[in-house]
Amino acid sequence: MIKVRFAPSPTGYLHIGGARTALFNWMYAKSQKGKFVLRIEDTDIQRSSKEFVDEILASMKWLGLEWDELYFQSERFEIYKEYAQKLVKEGKAYDSSGAIILKMPKQEVKIYDLIRGEINFDTANFMVRCEDGLTVLDEEGNPVLKDEVLIKADGSPSYSFCCVVDDALMEISHVIRGEDHISNTPKQIVMYEALGFTPPKFAHLPLIMGEDGGRLSKRTGAVAVSDYKANGFIAEALVNYLLLLGWSPGNNQEKISISNAIKTFSIKKVNKAAAVFSMDKLRWLNGQYIKQMEDEKLVELLVPFLIEKNFINRDFNSQNLKSVVRLYKARLPTLLDFIDRAGFVFVDDITIEESLYKKYFSDDRKKEFCFLAERLSVVEVFDLNNAEQVFRAVTEDLGINTADLVHPIRVALTGSDIGPGLFETMVVLGKAKTVKRLKEAFK
Ligand code: GLU
Repeated sequence: MIKVRFAPSPTGYLHIGGARTALFNWMYAKSQKGKFVLRIEDTDIQRSSKEFVDEILASMKWLGLEWDELYFQSERFEIYKEYAQKLVKEGKAYDSSGAIILKMPKQEVKIYDLIRGEINFDTANFMVRCEDGLTVLDEEGNPVLKDEVLIKADGSPSYSFCCVVDDALMEISHVIRGEDHISNTPKQIVMYEALGFTPPKFAHLPLIMGEDGGRLSKRTGAVAVSDYKANGFIAEALVNYLLLLGWSPGNNQEKISISNAIKTFSIKKVNKAAAVFSMDKLRWLNGQYIKQMEDEKLVELLVPFLIEKNFINRDFNSQNLKSVVRLYKARLPTLLDFIDRAGFVFVDDITIEESLYKKYFSDDRKKEFCFLAERLSVVEVFDLNNAEQVFRAVTEDLGINTADLVHPIRVALTGSDIGPGLFETMVVLGKAKTVKRLKEAFK
């Protein structure tokens, strides 16, 4: 039975790197019909918090990464102590002012990593060093190896020890985690062996870097998964993007559903080279998901954003909303862009920026605007066809070029000089607001 785990420390929010690790574990479990364990590594009582635990659980659910088993290490201190004491009894570990410490044996450690192949370590490299960097030698002149703390003096267990005890007791078959943990692996293997457990298989995922070639920072995308949600990203799109950070479905394919990805996913095909996080690509992919989403679903996702902005209340007209959504959905990188671009439909009054006002309203078109407003106000069925016909008739009657009016009208109605077709815009805005904004534009 394949069993994997995602083991976040709740000392911070779930970030892109953690979410990618969680996803690859989950994918592997799904692709092998195995089990996925979520283990909260909250042994550092000072730095862990309930707020972070809640955020991690909520983000995992939002991404669709449901778990089969959930554990909290803070509830398992007795278990770790018991195993540490067993090692003391067997002479493999010792007490030192309350702490329990494993004697580091001198040995070679071979790891077979599913992504990186064979990695060899020698525990002789774990030497005790003085402040000046020199190694400490024993009476025979051999370097003294650094022993590993299992239980700290305050009674709390060390990360590596809990990790080993839990991975063994929870019967984890594969440890899939970030490359930054490679250096912990040999110490952990020594612990498995001391405890008489068989080590699991390992797969260390490549690092994720920012486009500037450095570590992922706030600026380059290292923000909480919950922030992506708040910023109008679609869970499926984010999951799809995370999949591409180290894995590829092949054929240059980028948009792939999770169910199809599960069919072709292989941990052995994960790249060794660092993955680069591109915000532009994520936004593009998110836009693709929005474009292809059912209108109903999109409306459902937009409603909380619109309510938060006070653009609608709970008894909104979903038919109207759907027509606005349809007008914009092909060109939205995120849900927030909808709020930005279509906001003019929902508010009573818009403000027109000084620069746009100067650009489009320097010629006085009050007469033309009012004339159009009057003619539109008597249209019974305010649809695309009629709006366009009235507009054309007005420009003909007044003998003006349609092009001279289109931009100023769009600015008067929406507060922006870019957007979808003018008549579609009028229709989604509705007759009353269209007429009112035209009349008031030159006030
Ligand atoms: N709690 C560790 C972390 O957050 C887990 C490391 C592991 O997967 O073994 O990085």
